[in-house]
Amino acid sequence: MQLTKTDYLEFLFCKKNLWLKKHKPELFEGVELSEFEKKIIEEGNIADEAARHLFPEGVLVTTHEAEAIEDTKQYIDRKEKVIFQAAISVDSFLIRADILVWNDALSAWELYEVKATNEVKRKKNHNHIKDISFQKQVCEQAGIPIGKCGIIHLNGEYKRHSSFSWRDVFMVEEVTEEVAEVVEEVTAEMEDMKRSMDMPEGSGCECIYRGRSNQCTTFAYSNPQVPEYSIHDLHRIGLSKKKIENWVDEGIFTLEDIPDVSILNDKQALQVEVYRSQKPLIDTHTIKEELDTLTFPLYFFDYEGYGTAIPEFTGYSSFEQVPFQYSLHILHEDGTIEHRDHLVRKRKSDIARSLVEQLTDDIGSKGSIISWHKSYEEGRNKTLARVYPEYAPFFEDMNERMFDLETIFTKQLYVHQDFKGKTSIKKVLPVLVPELTYDDLSVRAGDQAMERWEYMLSEECEDEDAIYHDLLEYCKQDTWAMVKIYEHLLGVCGIKVEIK
Ligand code: SF4
Repeated sequence: MQLTKTDYLEFLFCKKNLWLKKHKPELFEGVELSEFEKKIIEEGNIADEAARHLFPEGVLVTTHEAEAIEDTKQYIDRKEKVIFQAAISVDSFLIRADILVWNDALSAWELYEVKATNEVKRKKNHNHIKDISFQKQVCEQAGIPIGKCGIIHLNGEYKRHSSFSWRDVFMVEEVTEEVAEVVEEVTAEMEDMKRSMDMPEGSGCECIYRGRSNQCTTFAYSNPQVPEYSIHDLHRIGLSKKKIENWVDEGIFTLEDIPDVSILNDKQALQVEVYRSQKPLIDTHTIKEELDTLTFPLYFFDYEGYGTAIPEFTGYSSFEQVPFQYSLHILHEDGTIEHRDHLVRKRKSDIARSLVEQLTDDIGSKGSIISWHKSYEEGRNKTLARVYPEYAPFFEDMNERMFDLETIFTKQLYVHQDFKGKTSIKKVLPVLVPELTYDDLSVRAGDQAMERWEYMLSEECEDEDAIYHDLLEYCKQDTWAMVKIYEHLLGVCGIKVEIK
């Protein structure tokens, strides 16, 4: 069995998951990566390729498997100064080193790992030092001496401007000493990984003691006794390790079976109470108080954004979200409603100017601005205020007038058994307004919108008009969904509104 650097990092994250990947790959078939996950991988590859500009004399190993190992050997024998994607194998380990640079003074190679992050990560489950240390071990065991190690990462301070230099985009951080400090630990882990892969499958897995957000897609396979909605779905239960441990050790998995609800915090207790009674709990008095704070006209507002590792547009930094679209439903006090939107259709360095100009026309100086999970919209407004300082007062005013409709649900003023402890609009909408769905739309989620927009602006795009239409429909649905949820909330508070 061949073990790669990715396997090693997977092993550090979860031994069981790596074991399943190696021995039961069928469990991962049909598990599609989200557009967001695909984008993260793609941006990592883009950063890796871009970092090669820092070493213009490099040669790239373009082949795969045994051929790549052979080509790398030949490049090393030929004393190439810089090698990209060097393939090195020893024992059962295999790596593709992002960049190897020969250093005459050291009579050894410098090893660089490229990361599409703004800093060197040193956390337990996301550790760049161990990542490069694993590669150093493989190189040295294969007889390739490594005298220096470095992480090349994105410069988080950099903002794209007209004079572009790769040296501004990336930072090179030497980590040779830190790598030396973990050598023994990494060597032991590599041996442990080899041994573990030869062991038989263990029963269950450690996530039985963790909240749902930590679990991977194989949780149900490893823990078939746990129902789909369980103690693991209780609000922030992952922070109360002791509670989960006690329940699991006593074989308690359903909300029904929790013996002593007095040990739950208020939010968890309410979640259990609603689930057990199968009746929603609605604090109409406080919901009404919250909605009474709003002033007309009501602007139901949503942005879609796009971010890349290497900033593409003037004024933005790496992974900073560039707003490329908005939808706005404007509800007047007499119940009349208007819709406005904007979608950037052409790639240019000053990408969001047309959006900003239209938005400043569409949003008047009075009225509440309603979004769902408002920190996203507020963040984009702050970015636009920085990129277009002449409009900063407008965006600051927008943020002061922002109301987060999700708080009705996060504050548990409205708890429904079918929300299953979640408050995202995609969970709340089908319960409160079941007739309004995203099922008929071609674009159904924000990460998909980002992917479609990127494709629409590319030269390969052959169906620009259709994608343009799909994106408008998707974003419009997001703000219309908020209007309908608002209407529903008024209804449960006994207030009739006729939206025209
Ligand atoms: S559910 Fe958790 S412990 Fe189990 S295999 Fe997945 S990540 Fe590992």
